[in-house]
Parts: sequence; structure tokens; C-alpha cells
Amino acid sequence: MQASHRPARVKQQRPSRTQQRYEQRADPPDFDEDHLELTLAQTDSTRRFPLILTLDTNGIPHRWINWQHAVWYYAKNRVAWETGSEAFTVSGGRCRHTGETSRITAASIIAIKGKAMAIKGFNQVPPLNNRELFHRDRHVCGYCGGLFSHFKLTRDHIIPYSRGGHDTWMNVVTACRGCNEKKGSRLPEEARMELIYAPYVPNRAEFLILANRRILADQMEFLKQHVAANSRVHLA
Ligand SMILES: [Zn+2]
Repeated sequence: MQASHRPARVKQQRPSRTQQRYEQRADPPDFDEDHLELTLAQTDSTRRFPLILTLDTNGIPHRWINWQHAVWYYAKNRVAWETGSEAFTVSGGRCRHTGETSRITAASIIAIKGKAMAIKGFNQVPPLNNRELFHRDRHVCGYCGGLFSHFKLTRDHIIPYSRGGHDTWMNVVTACRGCNEKKGSRLPEEARMELIYAPYVPNRAEFLILANRRILADQMEFLKQHVAANSRVHLA
């Protein structure tokens, strides 16, 4: 089968306040809201604040977190060091113990203490999604070289499923709908459609770049240092 996946258009439901709280608590289980009552409307401020890049203490990129999560790390004294040229101050409510308004300034890039950070290895293969795939390939069809918008692109399996191909970074390229249909369930050489660029597996730093739409310049600079030399991110 020649997979001509439409980009997943899952209707995203806004999480309920309870779900949001649960998600915030999922990793930091004992967030002390009594001590740091954040009064900013969560949805609005989540939109206004960029994501914070976390590293392990060796400076290896780990993941994106929202500001609430970053504040939790600061409040729990889990931030080992910070870098980046940007900082964001979050004003909270009054502390019940001191009566003072709490304020935490988070840097755009923070290193987190703890062993849990080291467990998810830098070399782990990132999940394959259309959005990140199309970004990897710069929205350029791997066959005709045309530049297309997200919704006109498909995930093409170089070796089709029906021929034993797998759904992996190394067996997929971005293809426009026309090229995908033309290729059908053939190999590129059978269809006389030569690939104009090669697939590759993005490393974690590259995946983090691909996965964040609102990446800050300093975060981008930091992550680029960890991206493999053959990555197309360097062309961006
Ligand atoms: Zn094409």
C-alpha cells in the first residue's frame, strides 16, 4: 500500500482546568500551590510565555516545558544552572506565610538537577510525526522539489508498506500529493522518480527544533550546536 497519509487533523479539545492541573502535576507531583498561588490565567499566560528549554546538568537538551513547570523547578530548587539571553518573570499571588507577592524569573534555557533527566537518552529516536517530518524536509517534495504548504504534503514511504517498508524516519520522505499518487506502490527506481534528497533520523536536538513553533533565537542557537552536521536544519 502506498501510504498517502493525510496530515492528522485531530480535533484538539482544550483540556479542562482539572486536566491542566493534572498535567502540571504529572511530573512534579507535589506542587505546593498554597505557597505559590499563581494568579495569572493559565491559558492566556501559557500562550504569552514561550516554552522553556530544559537540559540535564551536562547541558544535553532534554525537552520543552511550559512556564508553570519551569516555575515548579525553580520553587523546588531543582534548577542547577541557567543560560540563554532571555528571562521571564512570573508574578504569583501572596505567600500565606510571609504576605509577600511571589515572583519567579525563569531563564529561557535551564538545566535541571536529578537522575531522571539522564534516563531519556539523547540518542533516543524521536517519534515520527508528519509535522516534524515535513519540517525535516523543509516542506519540499522529495520527488519534484516543489515547495508546498503542510496540507498539500503527504508522508511517502520510499519502500511502500506493501513491499515490506517500515514507517520509520529512514523510510519516509515528504511528498506532494501528485508525486505520491504517481509513485503509487512502486519503488522510486521502478517509478523512475529519483529522490532529490536523502532521509535521515533527526537527533533529539533537531527534533526539539522541529517540534516547537515559537522557538526563541537563543534556544535555536543552543540547539543548533547539538544538531548533526548532515541535518537540513542548518539550511534554515
Ligand atoms: Zn512532488
